[in-house]
Amino acid sequence: MGFLDTLKGIFSGGGGGGGSRSTSDGFFFYLRCPSSHPIHVWVNRGHDLARDYDGAGGFTLTKHIVCPTCYKKSIAQLNFDDRYRETSREIENGQYIDEAEYDAAQPKGTADYKRTQSARATRWPS
Ligand SMILES: [Zn+2]
Repeated sequence: MGFLDTLKGIFSGGGGGGGSRSTSDGFFFYLRCPSSHPIHVWVNRGHDLARDYDGAGGFTLTKHIVCPTCYKKSIAQLNFDDRYRETSREIENGQYIDEAEYDAAQPKGTADYKRTQSARATRWPS
């Protein structure tokens, strides 16, 4: 199994806690802001994941997310092992949802909704 095949397998199902659409560059995760607006966040695997030198190895991802609808902030943290397999996730001021729930929450007939409503997310200031 090649490296990319491995990555596809990681995020394409199972894993609990929510499905993720993924490519070789990264993947989406989904959440609701404190006001329950559905938000999707793109994670660039090359730029967003940081080596976790303090913990047991692997990678961590911390995203500050500003809801594009109500501007409330959420802070998401996902943890991965050395092979980019998600090991745990936490969130402040929000709640994780899966892709199916996100899609179901979109208004009908707005195919561009996902592109126009991308959450503005920034890296944790270091
Ligand atoms: Zn909101």
